[in-house]
Amino acid sequence: HNSTSSNFIRNIVMEDIKSGKVKEIITRFPPEPNGYLHIGHAKSICLNFELADDFQGKTHLRFDDTNPVKEDAEFVESIKDDVKWLGFNWDHVYFASDYFEEMYSRAIVLIKKEKAYVCDLSAEEIRETRGTLTQPGKESPFRNRSVAENLELFERMRKGEFKDGEKVLRAKIDMTSPNLNLRDPVLYRISHAVHHNTGDTWCIYPMYDFAHPLEDAIEGVTHSICTLEFEDHRPLYDWVVQECEMEHQPKQYEFARLNLANTVMSKRKLKLLVDEKVVDGWDDPRMPTISGLRRRGYTPESIRNFCREIGVSKSNSTVDVKLLEHFIREDLKLKSPRTMAVLRPLKVVITNYPEGQVEYLDAEINPENPEMGTRSIPFSREIYIEQDDFMEEPPKKYFRLFPGNEVRLKHAYFITCNEVIKDEQGNIVELHCTYDPETKSGSGFTGRKVKGTIHWVDAQQAVAAEFRLYESLLSDEEQGEGTTFLNHINPDSLEILQGFVEPNMRESKAHDKFQFFRHGYFNVDPKDATKARVVFNRIVSLKSSFEL
Ligand code: ATP
Ligand code: MG
Ligand code: MG
Repeated sequence: HNSTSSNFIRNIVMEDIKSGKVKEIITRFPPEPNGYLHIGHAKSICLNFELADDFQGKTHLRFDDTNPVKEDAEFVESIKDDVKWLGFNWDHVYFASDYFEEMYSRAIVLIKKEKAYVCDLSAEEIRETRGTLTQPGKESPFRNRSVAENLELFERMRKGEFKDGEKVLRAKIDMTSPNLNLRDPVLYRISHAVHHNTGDTWCIYPMYDFAHPLEDAIEGVTHSICTLEFEDHRPLYDWVVQECEMEHQPKQYEFARLNLANTVMSKRKLKLLVDEKVVDGWDDPRMPTISGLRRRGYTPESIRNFCREIGVSKSNSTVDVKLLEHFIREDLKLKSPRTMAVLRPLKVVITNYPEGQVEYLDAEINPENPEMGTRSIPFSREIYIEQDDFMEEPPKKYFRLFPGNEVRLKHAYFITCNEVIKDEQGNIVELHCTYDPETKSGSGFTGRKVKGTIHWVDAQQAVAAEFRLYESLLSDEEQGEGTTFLNHINPDSLEILQGFVEPNMRESKAHDKFQFFRHGYFNVDPKDATKARVVFNRIVSLKSSFEL
């Protein structure tokens, strides 16, 4: 990977290596397996893996699986697939749940030092007595239990003698600290739930603020990179490492998370979209998940380049989706074949073209990349054009087809519209045109010029295709706070069209990518395409829309 753009975290790493503070850098990507990864995670993945790569270090893939209720093995597998697909190799897969025994014994260390106590207050009571930014918290009546009593109660918590919520283990720090995170935070809670990894071995589970620093310390992580919301948790992170007497002392650094305009970006909310069937699964091409982007047709390169471009900073900001779109266009511009597809077909009969005759026209596959060679396209008496490319009563400056007007068929001939055929309801069903054999593309014809060029496919040999066009899932600037985003779902986020593509695309395979002339970039859907019907997902339209 070529990721030399500098950022403040990189500079810290460089300093730490220069000063000899660390010999080998170890980073980690620590997802909770409670959903599929999204584009925000990609930013963290790129940052952690590229940083380690650049300094010949290592990156651990660690599942932060300390919350049994929400986690699932399906999510573990999808996360591995997505990280690999993005192009990164972890040194080793770790599970936080493998450290439960070690974490338990570190909690005992705290209890013995009178740095932790078992508290009988309910979650509600703990919240109420925590105080506010302007008011100190109140000490729990259980705060001064003896070491012996705490050891006994904590052991009984582990044995399952208490119900969920009946007791917790809390750190004994300072109820008057200006940092609310230090006001005796909860370290362990009771949850009688089956864990995807440890089954029912445990009924007490460590909280994030206790577990995470221990996980980092156990694995020898040097630079633990997380998002800005955790900045205020850093003193607690350091407290846990120190008071638990961990040999290795990792350091936490915070960077601004990625926010995409008008996009829901939280596994919890994305799960809601899946569970409520607003979308067709986690990999629905409208989803900002890695698997959704992949199915839509995004490439790993385009996502990595996007993450590099947005960079790493200390201040939160929102990025426009257009930037992501820019990088997929850039990536596909020279790589993808250009072909013609008619999304909303209108039949055209070329009345002066001999019946039964077929000819094959040569066309460049990609004019910006001549090495891709040429293809051959059939042309005969009946073709399809876009419904949009004909108007019976055109406005001024409409240069496409209308009665009496002549246009160029891309790679073929000039045609002139002579007659409009309608059904009983008055809908246009067919056009009758004539072609001029002298105007064949590539023949050097200069006799006259036309202002419009339209695309087409041969009606007889064309391959039937389904096209799926996407718009944003949210209908307005709603950022997706709370669950109110469910009231702002765009009813037109998916449009399905039945049309035709050139016959040479009959053999296209899942994930083949094309640029359809005037329509944009499309990906062959990996799930729904069949032998009889190719399905194309529009990745992104062309920058300059062809609407006049
Ligand atoms: P979500 O709320 O979407 O589930 P999370 O932070 O709870 O996000 P984790 O599985 O804990 O999800 O995240 C794994 C890593 O990815 C963390 O280090 C987290 O900081 C990072 N991460 C998550 N979302 C973003 C984002 N939008 N931008 C950058 N990094 C992110
Ligand atoms: Mg998290
Ligand atoms: Mg989360």
